[in-house]
Amino acid sequence: QKSSASAVSLNVELPRSKASSANTPSNQSAGMQQYAFINADCLNISTQNEHYRQCLQQSQRIFADGIGLRVACLSKGEALRANLNGTDLFPRLCQLAAQQELSIYMLGGAADVAQTAAQNMQACYPNLKIAGTHHGYFNTAANSQDNQQVIQAINSVNADILLVAMGAPTQELWLAQNKSQLNCAIGIGVGGLFDFYSN
Ligand code: UDP
Repeated sequence: QKSSASAVSLNVELPRSKASSANTPSNQSAGMQQYAFINADCLNISTQNEHYRQCLQQSQRIFADGIGLRVACLSKGEALRANLNGTDLFPRLCQLAAQQELSIYMLGGAADVAQTAAQNMQACYPNLKIAGTHHGYFNTAANSQDNQQVIQAINSVNADILLVAMGAPTQELWLAQNKSQLNCAIGIGVGGLFDFYSN
């Protein structure tokens, strides 16, 4: 189910443009914001997984993905602003990031998937800056060497927006676990997004 471009733009707020605030880079503001997409499956997982539920509750923004959530909200008398999934958001996000000179780091997926997706998006948006890519198969234990190397790789390139494509709830838990060490402005869990855009 596709969202209209206007529905997408309603939900996207990027950090202040670097072009208009060269001396105050967006990724040096207070703490990383965490955004999440949830579909009906995620909602079900959240009823069983308290840690994931807390991650969602502490997220600055949650985007409702799919008809299941719409139906659930209707049954509770709640209206949703819009349906939004990562696949629809990604091109719009890349376009805005390119315009506002904000860089994106892509973490997750099998070897080379993020890199291929990055190349595909850069072909569409030549001004887009992909700060870096990394696969999603590493030891995510907080203090493991692997995990610390990934955090260091992300921080070393000063990415503004971090997309984590490791599936729910792994990606949300990973962002929550490491957010205090990450210097990005926004971290977003995006599921299988890179697979989709690497073809
Ligand atoms: N993945 C990963 N590391 C893992 C497990 C999964 O990077 O340890 C990636 C996997 O390669 C795939 C994505 O996470 O690209 C999960 O996609 P899926 O569509 O299952 O996620 P969902 O959108 O259902 O949360």
